[in-house]
Amino acid sequence: MRQQTKHFINGEWLESTGSETIDVINPATEEVIGTISSGTEEDLNKAVKAARQAFPSFSKSTKEERIHWLENIVEGYEARKEELVNIMTDELGAPLTVSEDVHYQMGIGHFKQAAESLSTYSFEEERGGHTLMKESVGVSGLITPWNFPTNQVSTKIASAIAAGSPVVLKPASKTPFAAMILAEIIAEAGVPKGAFNLVNGSGSVIGNGISKHPDIDFVSFTGSGSVGEKIMQNAAPTIKKVALELGGKSPIVVLGDADVEEAAKTALSNIMTNTGQVCSAGTRVIVPHAMKKEFEDKIVDLLPTFPVGDPRKEGIATGPLVSKDQWDTVQSYIEKGENEAKMLVGGTGKPEGLETGYYAKPTIFTDVSNDAVIAQEEIFGPVTTIIAYEDLEEAIDIANDTVYGLAGFVVGKNPETLQYVASNLRAGRITVNNAETDFNGPFGGYKQSGIGREWGDFGIEEYLEIKSVHGMPAS
Ligand code: NAP
Repeated sequence: MRQQTKHFINGEWLESTGSETIDVINPATEEVIGTISSGTEEDLNKAVKAARQAFPSFSKSTKEERIHWLENIVEGYEARKEELVNIMTDELGAPLTVSEDVHYQMGIGHFKQAAESLSTYSFEEERGGHTLMKESVGVSGLITPWNFPTNQVSTKIASAIAAGSPVVLKPASKTPFAAMILAEIIAEAGVPKGAFNLVNGSGSVIGNGISKHPDIDFVSFTGSGSVGEKIMQNAAPTIKKVALELGGKSPIVVLGDADVEEAAKTALSNIMTNTGQVCSAGTRVIVPHAMKKEFEDKIVDLLPTFPVGDPRKEGIATGPLVSKDQWDTVQSYIEKGENEAKMLVGGTGKPEGLETGYYAKPTIFTDVSNDAVIAQEEIFGPVTTIIAYEDLEEAIDIANDTVYGLAGFVVGKNPETLQYVASNLRAGRITVNNAETDFNGPFGGYKQSGIGREWGDFGIEEYLEIKSVHGMPAS
């Protein structure tokens, strides 16, 4: 049992000023694996004060100092690999291989990328009539979700350090322990005290407090659209800069010349990796009418290649959902889907033999109309929808007919058609034929998927203000 009831404030682990705690549950066993503090406004105020005090010197730190801290973090992160991998399996329910190959790797990728981006980044530029300066945005408040415990936290912290912005982080209370290990790594990396602070607690107290705080200049939030909306409202009275990374209902456009097996694998990996709890997951598979039957048969055939089960068991691809609430939500969407479309496989309830743990049955619906609830709302579980199209223009219309615009996928062969579809999808990240992730590629959404971009140089710019100086004397 982890009893980690302290917050990291001004370079020290401090007891909370309150006595309330939050239990952290292993979703595979339904057992409590630890406890954190439910932080108070007083805890938050202390952390914001520390960040404000750190601002004058941290914001003037040199590029070399920032690169040095980022590289030290990479070293510390590597040294604690086993611990990070294990805790993410316990708090999130990710299979060990997913914790290592996806979560661990994404976390470290952002620190490496930030150091690399910084090495060539220019904070000052002569532009003819003026000098352009890019300066730290001020104190940043970071609020993160549970579905990628290191990735979400790392991309924000790495960019903030690169930009010289002191931060106050509130990790998701369902998965706080990976972030707490990261806090220890950051402290050991020599990052100045007060530049990184972590306060645990509920969204309603600490998250809400961050988005309203008059001494926080910028809020970077990743999570649901409904909370994103509240954050914008809370930030309005102090005209706070806000970046929002929200949900999605991303399309996978399968072209007529696609390899059906490749397309089916793409569709499955989108809902089975991280148990479908991925904001950018492609959950509307848009296939040509002529291919639909073959595609349906292939996806059902290939489903057993993603075994569901105990995340600590070898060979398991998909673990449980993160919580009972998330399990209930997924069940209610499967129920809705049964009335809206044809179910090929899956259904409500738990998979056989997995009665303990928040396991859901992978569920595939076909003959789905794009205006069905299951095609329009984010389910955040191992559920997908197959939608048929006649011609490419119809496929693109269906793909874009959503309030979201976080990601899109295209599978096929003809280069011109792939380019045409990629350039006509209204979304912030398009992946063609399962291309590898580039950590310098900006990540963020169009429409209701958010405001702003994370990752790489665009991510760093979120934490910068722009100043134009006219008549700067030459030095
Ligand atoms: P969530 O309920 O919105 O929570 C996200 C974070 O906000 C948590 O730390 C939560 O705290 C906090 N929070 C809750 N209420 C708050 C409030 N009133 N004010 C301020 N903060 C508050 O989302 P989630 O269930 O954790 O994550 C799933 C959602 O995140 C999905 O919609 C997914 O698509 C989205 N997401 C988006 C991206 C992206 O990059 N676009 C990436 C990952 C996830 P507690 O939970 O600790 O109370």
